[in-house]
Amino acid sequence: MISPVIPTYARAPLSFVKGEGSWLIEQNGERYLDMGAGIAVTSLGHAHPKLVAALKDQADQLWHTSNLYNIPNQEKLAQQLVDATFADTVFFTNSGAEAMECAIKMARKHFSSAGQEDRSDIIAFEDAFHGRTLGTIAAAGAEKLVKGFGPQLAGFTHVPFGDLDATEAAITPNTAAILIEPIQGEGGIVPASDAFLQGLRALCDAHGLLLIMDEIQCGMGRSGKLFAHEYSSISPDIMAIAKGIGGGFPLGACLATEVAADGMVAGTHGSTYGGNPLACAVGSAVIEVISDASFLDAVNRKAGALRQKLEGLVAAHPDVFEGVRGTGLMVGIACKVPNMDVVNAAYAQHLLTVPGGQNVIRVLPALTISDDELAEAVNRLDQAATAIEAAL
Ligand SMILES: *Cc1c(COP(=O)(O)O)cnc(C)c1O
Repeated sequence: MISPVIPTYARAPLSFVKGEGSWLIEQNGERYLDMGAGIAVTSLGHAHPKLVAALKDQADQLWHTSNLYNIPNQEKLAQQLVDATFADTVFFTNSGAEAMECAIKMARKHFSSAGQEDRSDIIAFEDAFHGRTLGTIAAAGAEKLVKGFGPQLAGFTHVPFGDLDATEAAITPNTAAILIEPIQGEGGIVPASDAFLQGLRALCDAHGLLLIMDEIQCGMGRSGKLFAHEYSSISPDIMAIAKGIGGGFPLGACLATEVAADGMVAGTHGSTYGGNPLACAVGSAVIEVISDASFLDAVNRKAGALRQKLEGLVAAHPDVFEGVRGTGLMVGIACKVPNMDVVNAAYAQHLLTVPGGQNVIRVLPALTISDDELAEAVNRLDQAATAIEAAL
């Protein structure tokens, strides 16, 4: 008999009822060290006092009015995002997939409103992940995402991640945009090189295309920069963000330049909840914490220390681990044994990690994690690896 909660997830048998910083606590009081952060969402840890206060204060004032009216919190958060990025304007959503839907619609509208109705194709990359809506599964294109959900939304071409020649060869007169995650997340923590991102920017400039970035997982400080594309010193025309921006409250956004957004006039797009007062109160608090220069300095320092420890871990367990990759506190450990074996062995050590593509486990801690907690996480991974070796 089907469970009351539809079984689309293969869930671990863990039920958490409370969170404190980098720790999650079960009903029976057992504490787990959280190196998954709700899949890169609770980037300021669980129950960050500033976020709790922002949400409680807003809850006492006003929950929802709709986008029929101005929403002061939304205007504030939009201005903060505009000030911090390449963008001139922001559309708010409740999730990453909706932010990506806005990005895709915006790119198509930009060309159609300029009289180029046929210019709607988007070049995207193999092993990408952009969400679970009909549009975003077509954007990613992987068989496991689209199978059984046809007919598929047309207009996406896929080329190998990192292959600039293949990208250029895929451009046609109907190409509207190139869409990329600067660091692939679900695909297994695969950073694009600076040269590749710069090459994509140059292709977009040469062919009049829009460059769309999906920074839903790698954005909001996770990479050690506010946004991962900043490492390459180029900027996109459109960028989808979510996950970390809400710190656990559902919030996403599509950021754009004025030119890219020129087709999105009144009546073209909408969302009942998008940018609601509660979500934007939390989003503003998140930005305020992360925008402090010393905050990202600390992320980078912790990332360096973690990387060093993980290289040591990999070297100590050559039968279990293959290598470490990633940027900032977005780390993937490639495994030699099935990655779920490592995730499960880590559960036994009361450590939470997240599986990813290409047989990696993802280490995505809260950006606020302490040095001691990071060291403890590596100790627990060491114990998990030792337990796996004993059973090999
Ligand atoms: C999580 C994720 C999405 C989808 O976000 P949802 O909030 O689950 O809709 C899209 N793109 C990337 C890169 C993601 O990591």
